[in-house]
Amino acid sequence: MLRLQNTLTRKKENFKPIRKQEVRMYTCGPTVYDVAHIGNLRTYVFEDVLRRSLEFLGYKVTQVMNITDVEDKIINKAKEQKKRIGEVTKVYTKKFFEDIKSLNIEEVEVYPLATAHVKEIVELIQSLMKKGFAYQGDDGSIYFDISKFKKYGKLVGLGKIAIKDGARVSADEYSKDNVRDFVLWKTKKKGEPSWRSPFGGGRPGWHIECSAMSMRYLGKSFDIHTGGVDNIFPHHENEIAQSEAATGKKFVNYWLHGEHLLVGGERMAKSAKNFFTLDDVEKRGYMPLAFRYFVLGAHYRSKLNFTWTALESAQSGLWNLWRELGRLKFLSEHDKFKNNRELVGKLEALFKAAVEDDLNIPGSMAALRRVMSDPDISPSEKRRLIFKMDKVLGLDLAYADVLSKIPVHIKALVVGRELLRRNQQFVKADTLRHKVESLGYEVEDTSYGPFIWPNYNRKSHHKT
Ligand code: AMP
Ligand code: ZN
Repeated sequence: MLRLQNTLTRKKENFKPIRKQEVRMYTCGPTVYDVAHIGNLRTYVFEDVLRRSLEFLGYKVTQVMNITDVEDKIINKAKEQKKRIGEVTKVYTKKFFEDIKSLNIEEVEVYPLATAHVKEIVELIQSLMKKGFAYQGDDGSIYFDISKFKKYGKLVGLGKIAIKDGARVSADEYSKDNVRDFVLWKTKKKGEPSWRSPFGGGRPGWHIECSAMSMRYLGKSFDIHTGGVDNIFPHHENEIAQSEAATGKKFVNYWLHGEHLLVGGERMAKSAKNFFTLDDVEKRGYMPLAFRYFVLGAHYRSKLNFTWTALESAQSGLWNLWRELGRLKFLSEHDKFKNNRELVGKLEALFKAAVEDDLNIPGSMAALRRVMSDPDISPSEKRRLIFKMDKVLGLDLAYADVLSKIPVHIKALVVGRELLRRNQQFVKADTLRHKVESLGYEVEDTSYGPFIWPNYNRKSHHKT
């Protein structure tokens, strides 16, 4: 039974989807005004592991991830660069998809754009106005009246809050100490993009966008909603208020939030200027998948501090996994091995139990390592089991088979070296070994003959 920590109840709960064997899930996506930093990407990796785990456990997943393509930061950037907002968002949307692809993040079913759903957003605001949950301020913008929604503050755990009557905020982001009526529709400003609506020209606020688009694709009530912990307040609190006030139904059953990536103990953030991007990672010679491996080393609800040293050991950890898988293939081609089926079943169950325990990926990685090192499981069975586990991990472990395609000229050198060794010409044999190494390959002499593998130190071995 899958158990998930629900932010709404602050408890680990048994997961029961609304529809049998089917999960509907919404994920807050990027605001495409700039390149994502690796903190953002940590959250997307967590959400991908959740999706993959649900699939591994046999659920059919329908996942929606919005793209926020109209927002203050985008408008400012467009002004700065003297461009239309569409020109700015196009560049960063493309970059976002490249980044998530190189992290082996699975595509979700729908990526709705805010600008393509203004109709749905306006309809939702209209229904909130009709029901008395929203009002037009004297500035012309439409606000949500939080004093009308009695459950306001339940997600973040505000308890009884003193709300200044009528105090409101038109910015999308604000803190727990500054609880206010929040903006649903921002009235038109000169030089800013706007859409027509029954309440005058303007553009949607950030929070209403996610309520409108999630319910458009997933229905009034769905199973899981995710984001980073900073999304809990005000964004997700406001999503609940807007959606439940409009429908009278429970919006989402399970709220899951990923913890932050830190640098030097501080949250990585654009505003703190302490961030790195995936391009920085690659420029320093690391593979994007090494970053994924690094992220998988911590539970999604634990803070994780980023250092280049930690990334270095993640990369060598991943490289060793690929190498071990290559070695297992080599062994399975050279001999027959015994296989303890009962043990295989036990270790598979151990892996599954870790995944089911609120996505304990460090625990599931430990199960993988046990499979790898157990002498009572045959090499081919090990590979089968580990590739199955990789459906959850998404480390592209099958890439080991690409790496194990050794070029003919390297193989020829190694065969040459073997002949020299057999003839006891060790000095010459060693010269050939050095030659092989200088070409980026290492040779390990095993009882089944030489095992050849690309040298880890050769940074040019990037996944293509
Ligand atoms: P944003 O583009 O700021 O809306 O952020 C996109 C996603 O990244 C959201 O789900 C945030 O919660 C998440 N996020 C922002 N900063 C961090 C961080 N330092 N570590 C992990 N996730 C983050
Ligand atoms: Zn959102």
